[in-house]
This record gives sequence, structure tokens and C-alpha cells, in this order.
Amino acid sequence: MSARVLVVDDILPNVKLLEAKLSTEYYEVLTATSGPEALRKIETDNPDIVLLDVMMPGMDGFEVCAAIKKNPDTAHIPVVMVTALTDAQDKVRGLEAGADDFLSKPINDTALMARVRSLVRLKMALDEWRVRENAANQFGAVSESPSVMTEPVEGARVLVIEDKEYEKNKIAETLMRDHNIVMGVDTGPKGMELIAKYDFDIVMVSLNLNGEDGLRLCSHLKSNERTRSVPIVMIAEQDDMVFVAHGLEIGAHDYIMRPLDKNELLARVRTQIRRKRFQERLRSTYEISLNMALTDSLTGLYNRRYFEVHLDKLLQKNKVSRKAMAVIMIDIDHFKSVNDTYGHNVGDEILKIFAERMSGSLRSFDLVARLGGEEFVVLLPDISKERAYMVAERLRRSVADTPFPCAIEGGALRVTASLGAAVIEHGGHQIHEVLDRADKCLYEAKRSGRNCTVFENVGKIDPEKYQESARISYGDEDDEGAGASTTSL
Ligand code: GH3
Ligand code: MG
Ligand code: MG
Repeated sequence: MSARVLVVDDILPNVKLLEAKLSTEYYEVLTATSGPEALRKIETDNPDIVLLDVMMPGMDGFEVCAAIKKNPDTAHIPVVMVTALTDAQDKVRGLEAGADDFLSKPINDTALMARVRSLVRLKMALDEWRVRENAANQFGAVSESPSVMTEPVEGARVLVIEDKEYEKNKIAETLMRDHNIVMGVDTGPKGMELIAKYDFDIVMVSLNLNGEDGLRLCSHLKSNERTRSVPIVMIAEQDDMVFVAHGLEIGAHDYIMRPLDKNELLARVRTQIRRKRFQERLRSTYEISLNMALTDSLTGLYNRRYFEVHLDKLLQKNKVSRKAMAVIMIDIDHFKSVNDTYGHNVGDEILKIFAERMSGSLRSFDLVARLGGEEFVVLLPDISKERAYMVAERLRRSVADTPFPCAIEGGALRVTASLGAAVIEHGGHQIHEVLDRADKCLYEAKRSGRNCTVFENVGKIDPEKYQESARISYGDEDDEGAGASTTSL
């Protein structure tokens, strides 16, 4: 994993030392010798992580960190403060400024490298979501880009796996200051039981459990579906650094050393909760935008964009499987006069009901989309010609046979639609060619009087012949009327 590290220190030999260490691990190293220079480089060079000296003339590390975290464009970049300060208060001050860690000089190489690797990995996962969210944003779903630092830190659910009663209580008591819900257990198996029942936002694991391997537990949590993305914070003794480094490699997000400092604990847990919530938010924005981008807001059906991708996939698949599929274009008859006579709102009501009737007449794996205006398309994969005629007629009848309830005098309006369809039997077709073929038939249906179905090479379908009996016999493999509706992607 090649990542870009920015090393900031006012003393050049310190910079060179870190640069040398990081280069041997194949990191790309950028350097800065003052706070302002660091901020400039962060803006122009996009580092994946910043190693930041605390004591610098002018702007000190705390200020630099605060500035990085204040800017929504850079707030997600991990910051590790590197300092000669060993005072617990300074450490907490750094963590509260948004730093992800606070390492003391002389730096333990194992600790540093494990830390950098782990934070870079987390950042890259986040970047992936940021890119998607950003792309999704172009569809106009979200108004402003979120920042990791503005995420709330209260009310998270925390699991503490720790057999030292005193420590467990201290952790619970401390974390409850933020109104977190804290559950404590003294063994891994008991922890797993709770995990099966509840969704946790963070899991704290002691690496010093009696008779249990804390690292094994961490690795278990990482491979468990339910906890894979839940941040793990390890609790360790001062001389456990090798284990801690290993834990970070396995995928734990952070650690805290005994004796536990309450403020440090709170600051570290807050950082994890913020990050988790930030990532969840990016993901959900992405999903909502995707939904908006691919569905039609009036009817909830898939839109043309989605339909084209889907049809293309089916055509590819068709090349191999050589199963026939039907493409049916449907256009409401004289819809303009519905609008002209009753108004646009009534027109919209009709379109919604029309969409429901289409979805309600199809198998769950059939697809219906609104191509635009009063034009719809239905895809029936894996279907015989005879059945396709039957389904098309069923669709036509679902419109024509029952008037559409709407806000007009009489309470309902008679509506009809015309259908044009092609059965695609052999692979290797292009989307637009296929749509063109169905469209020509639709034109034919309009020309020959509307409220009818025309199939390619067959002409108008005889409604008498393709009439379903009371119990619809659409397919043996049937998934009758399950509704090929669409709002859930
Ligand atoms: P034909 O039987 O030949 O299809 O005639 P038509 O009137 O249905 O076809 P035309 O293409 O002339 O008119 C389509 C009308 O659909 C025009 C437009 O006002 C209306 N329309 C398109 N989109 C919407 C919509 O979202 N809501 C409403 N209410 N009307 C729409
Ligand atoms: Mg029309
Ligand atoms: Mg039209």
C-alpha cells in the first residue's frame, strides 16, 4: 500500500530521521518545517496521514491539528502528534484537537509503523466512500458535504470486554459522561453473546484477559459479519506494545494504555464514534442518491438510466444462455387530452396508478421502467413467445378493463394504452436496436387503432385468443403478481 505521509517538525534532523524510516517502508514522504507550510502542503498535496510535531515556534502542533480538523476538506486526514511531551494533559489536549494518536519521542518504531499503516488503511476505506458520495452528490441529493468533526459523539452503544472489575467500572462510568450505553463482560464468549443480540458502535477489548487471547478475540471480531466494521479499541499494559502493533495490523482501530486516563479514554472513544458515524453517513447518502439517480420520483419505477444498464446486462447474459426475452414498449393513449381536459395533477395521478398496475401484473424478476412522459417499458427475461403475448395482453387489460380512480367528476377515468413488443431470441443485440424494434411495433399499434398489442413479425395479438382464465397461467416457475416494483434497489 503506497501512501503519502506528511512529516511536520521544525527541527530538520527530526524530519530527516522520520523520512528515512518511512521511506524504507515504501511510503512517499512529504515534509514541512512549520505549521503554515504544513497546512499549505495538505491543501496542495493531499497526504494520507500527517505526523505532526507539537512544539514548533509560531503555530504549534495543537493549532495545526485544529486547523486541519476544522476544514471539512481535510478533517478526515488522520493526524498523529509526535512529541517530547509526556504529560497526560498534553496528550488529551492533542486528542481533543482531533489527533488520532499522540506518540512520545523517542519514537518506538514498531508503534509508529503499526499506527501509520492502520490509520492509512482506515483513511483509504473512508476515501472510497467519499469518492462515491461525491459522485452521487452530482445527482443533487445532498446539499453540503459532511465533516467528520461535526458528527455527534453521544449516545453510542459500547461493549467492554475486560475482566478487571475495577477497570471495567471505570470505563463504564467515564463513557457514560457522553450518555453512551455501556455493557461490560469479563470474557470473550460472553461478549460474542451480546454481539449476537445488539449492534455496537464500538468494542473495547482487554489484551490482558485471564486465560484468553485478546488478539484472537480482535481477529474474531474482524471476521464476524456483524462486527467487521465496528471499531475495536484495545486496552493494554505499557509493555504490550508488540501485541498492540499486531492488533493494529489485524484491524483494531485504536488502543489505550493502562493506567487508563479518563480524559484520554473519552477522547479516543469519541474519535472512533465520530469516524464510524461519518462513514455510515457517507454510505447512506450514497445509497439514497443512488436510489434517486435510478428511479423516477413520480412513480417510483426505475428510470431510463437504470433500464438501459439492466437491458444491456440481460443482452450480455442472453448471448450465453440463449434464452428468449421480451421487450414491451407501452404508451398511454391520448394522454395529452387527459392533461388538457382534467389538468396535470390528474395526469400525474393516472401515471402513478398506471405504474402500480404494471408492477402488479409482473413476476418479481421482470422489470418495468418509465422511459419518460407516458412511455413505459417492460422486460420479461426467460419467456416463451406465447407467454409473452399473454403477459402483454394482461398488461393491456389491467389498464383498459378498470377505470382509473381520480379526482374528477364521476371519480374515475377510462384509460387505454398501446403496446409494441419484440421477442429477442438470439444473443448479440444492441440496446438501441432492440428498443427500436419494439418501438416500431408500438407505432404500428397506435396506427391500427390503439388499445392493442402488436408483436414483431406477428402483428396484432388477438385478445380473444390470449385471454387468461380466472386463474392466471403465466408460468410454471411462477412468482405470480409479486410485483416487479422498484423502489428498493
Ligand atoms: P398517443 O395516443 O399518440 O400516444 O397520444 P398522446 O397524447 O398520449 O401522446 P403525446 O406524445 O402527444 O402526448 C403525451 C403527453 O404526456 C404530453 C405531456 O403533457 C404528457 N406528459 C408527459 N409527462 C407527463 C407527466 O409527468 N405528467 C403529466 N401529467 N403529463 C405528462
Ligand atoms: Mg401516448
Ligand atoms: Mg408519447
